[in-house]
Amino acid sequence: MRNADVPADMRLKIAVQKSGRLTDSSLDLLSRCGLKYSRGKDQLMCYGENMPLDVLFVRDDDIPDLVQEDVCDLGLVGLNVIEEKRLAFQAREVGPLFDTVQLLDFGRCRLCIAVPEGFHYEDAQSLQGKRIATTYPHILSRFLKQNGISAEVVVLSGSVEIAPRLGRADLICDLVSTGSTLAANHLRNVHTVLESQAALIRTPMPIPAQKQEWTRRLLMRIDGVEQVKGSKYIMLHAPRSALAAIAKLLPGSEAPTVIPLEGLGDRVAVHAVCPENVFWETLEDLKDAGATSVLVLPVEKMLA
Ligand code: ATP
Ligand code: ZN
Repeated sequence: MRNADVPADMRLKIAVQKSGRLTDSSLDLLSRCGLKYSRGKDQLMCYGENMPLDVLFVRDDDIPDLVQEDVCDLGLVGLNVIEEKRLAFQAREVGPLFDTVQLLDFGRCRLCIAVPEGFHYEDAQSLQGKRIATTYPHILSRFLKQNGISAEVVVLSGSVEIAPRLGRADLICDLVSTGSTLAANHLRNVHTVLESQAALIRTPMPIPAQKQEWTRRLLMRIDGVEQVKGSKYIMLHAPRSALAAIAKLLPGSEAPTVIPLEGLGDRVAVHAVCPENVFWETLEDLKDAGATSVLVLPVEKMLA
């Protein structure tokens, strides 16, 4: 059966943020996994052309609900939203919940307590009796409870950073990546409540066998894409006597491949995958150790 002919209920559905900070990286990940799709302007769903996988574009806050309700099989969303929803579902005793399958290398940010200039903050106790504005009431309430703090949680749906200036709160608990928004609003980060990054979630329901096979393949591909991010393939020539020194210099590479070079006596070619970036300093050290013709190539895909 061609992928285009797979019936709609046997096609995997993955929810992705429609337009925002996670969108480009989410689509880039799916493309790197080999998915080809066409997306029309304002289209809410795209049909995968070469896999029975369709992409649904929604607000990031809706992704856990769609996956939890089994409307989508998979979702790409931040840990901040996942954790907030998980606590909200738990509070309402809703279940079964979605499963977090894998952390992904994008969407990094921190959920922080930030105070206005002039606010004297020593430790969590400084929050006693204060009004804290946030869009993450469940995560914040858990943090306050864990620290034995009684404070008022002011729930806002956006623009949290201006709440202190408007007199709606004494301080805030909001997402920060570079800190420039905080600085622009005369706020100072005093405590990180949650470290966040994007993650893949999946439905808690059993997936039919046909879909399950594609889920397995997609997860394996995502794993492959995540593994090679930053990985490099190094090729170099060296005298056999320098092999031990060179192996030590190759970052994180366990067993380099050593190939004899025809007609070059004692010289060999060394090939290795390094699971981290290779800096100029390492290349200079390799050269000092006797390496020549050093080539560093990006790794595009890897299947363990
Ligand atoms: P939507 O309309 O989908 O609800 P949004 O305004 O909630 O959009 P964005 O600001 O695009 O969402 O952020 C989406 C996600 O990106 C956040 O939930 C978080 O996981 C991640 N993120 C990374 N850096 C930041 C940051 N500096 N501020 C906010 N979110 C960030
Ligand atoms: Zn959102």
